[in-house]
Amino acid sequence: MNRTAIVSAMHEELATVLGLMPDEQKSVVAKREFWLGHLHGHEVVAVLSGIGKVAAATTATVLIEHFGVRRILFTGVAGGLGADVRVGDVIVASQFMQHDLDVSPLFPRYEVPGYGIAVFDADPGLTAALGRAVQATLADLPHVLLPGAVETFGLHAPRPHHGLLISGDRFVATTSECRVLQQALPKALAVEMEGAPFAQVCRDYGIPFAAVRTVSDRADDAAHVDFLAFLRQVASRYSWRIIDNFFRLSQIR
Ligand code: SAH
Repeated sequence: MNRTAIVSAMHEELATVLGLMPDEQKSVVAKREFWLGHLHGHEVVAVLSGIGKVAAATTATVLIEHFGVRRILFTGVAGGLGADVRVGDVIVASQFMQHDLDVSPLFPRYEVPGYGIAVFDADPGLTAALGRAVQATLADLPHVLLPGAVETFGLHAPRPHHGLLISGDRFVATTSECRVLQQALPKALAVEMEGAPFAQVCRDYGIPFAAVRTVSDRADDAAHVDFLAFLRQVASRYSWRIIDNFFRLSQIR
């Protein structure tokens, strides 16, 4: 068995991934619905992460312990923090950290006690493959997005970014909080709520992990505007094509 987990943050994204699986079967564990089946001949299990760090850690643990997955891919949305990160761009995470973890003065700010580090790395091979899938997706936008989406959301030649993704148990939706994060963690490209716990659990088990996040907002006072419409018309279309490209293009067995 060489099963790959595909984790989505939202229902709309999961639905597009399930649409790629001809034979999905539902299995309920820990009150979560896991969908087992195939994608381009690869054995996969698709699931919603749940929102927030604890829900994410539980989901990661069940995927590994119960479903025996060999690798985990995450697709979701995030709030852009990096100066040149725009709505519609895609973040391919190379590193993860928790922006709301603080056990100082016992440990340095952000450090995860017991690990001696604050930053967790994405798996390089899996991340490179995901990056190629993102590249192919962004190069073919007219066939990915629905008509009108570019104009509706004012997308300007969406680009991929590679770097640090930060996670915390807060939807960052005020300009003041966004500024605080930008100043404290200037390398952070975007903020979300699940990546770092997935990376930590995967490190515990020695399971490769990689994540992509479509930038849905700028984590500022306008962050709530049209979130659902963006999810349906842009982010879930990206996820669908990125996952499709990943399994078509990658050499994983
Ligand atoms: N309004 C949504 C809830 C969104 S929670 C609903 O009704 O379901 C936000 C989700 O998107 C989380 O999974 C998080 O990982 C991500 N996200 C997007 N923008 C974010 C931001 N600005 N701050 C934190 N998380 C964000």
